[in-house]
Amino acid sequence: MEVFDVLIIGGGVSGVSCAQVIGSAVKKPFVTDKKVGIIMHQKSSMLQDAIFYNAYGIKQGTLGKDLLEQSIEDLKYYNHIDQIAGEKVISVQKKDGVFEVKTNKEVYYTSLVVVAINSSPTFEVEGLMEYVIPHKKSLAAKNRIQLRNEDHLVTEGVYVAGTLAGHRSQLAIAAGSGAAVATDILTLWNGGIETHSHDSTRVK
Ligand SMILES: Cc1cc2nc3c(=O)[nH]c(=O)nc-3n(C[C@H](O)[C@H](O)[C@H](O)COP(=O)(O)OP(=O)(O)OC[C@H]3O[C@@H](n4cnc5c(N)ncnc54)[C@H](O)[C@@H]3O)c2cc1C
Repeated sequence: MEVFDVLIIGGGVSGVSCAQVIGSAVKKPFVTDKKVGIIMHQKSSMLQDAIFYNAYGIKQGTLGKDLLEQSIEDLKYYNHIDQIAGEKVISVQKKDGVFEVKTNKEVYYTSLVVVAINSSPTFEVEGLMEYVIPHKKSLAAKNRIQLRNEDHLVTEGVYVAGTLAGHRSQLAIAAGSGAAVATDILTLWNGGIETHSHDSTRVK
């Protein structure tokens, strides 16, 4: 049975941001052998109808649906990350110490899960429903939801990122949240010693 070290669910802002930071750390000795995957079912992404003038680093007037495609294309730079496209996650269950992640097409196994599938009230993932609470920073009338978490950790081995973590809906916040989860996972893999991932033009 092949087991991922981390499987990210959702290829929107927070999920891809998380994957980029984990992907960029591949040369670190405690990351090199890690198996990383991201499940990307894009139909219900908040990016589909968005246009951006106020998101840091994004060219003004960029369409969300273009960003959705471009960010996935850019993620291929980290070609050790398995991109699993067109599959929707329907359940996440812990069995014998690993998580079984079922999609509408396949079953995957992983040690860690990052749930990055946004705060839409249509959320339906068996095994995670016990953590669903009303979104604390959204208007009640919007019926948004989040997963109960402490600094993105839902329960041992399960992280949540983006609007589903309870953050307000801004691209920069969602991206930062995904990056924060990535560095928490890198730190975990580094035996609890703080770490992060920087590229630099400085000669070593
Ligand atoms: C119309 C509109 C305009 C906006 N304009 C702005 C703006 O001007 N400035 C700004 O900063 N922010 C804006 N935003 C907000 C910004 O787009 C969101 O805050 C951001 O996309 C949230 O990131 P996320 O990762 O939480 O969710 P998303 O980016 O939506 O990512 C979630 C991903 O998970 C996938 N998914 C869902 N369910 C499953 C499942 N079961 N299995 C697998 N994958 C699944 C979705 O398809 C999606 O790809 C706008 C949003 C909307 C809707």
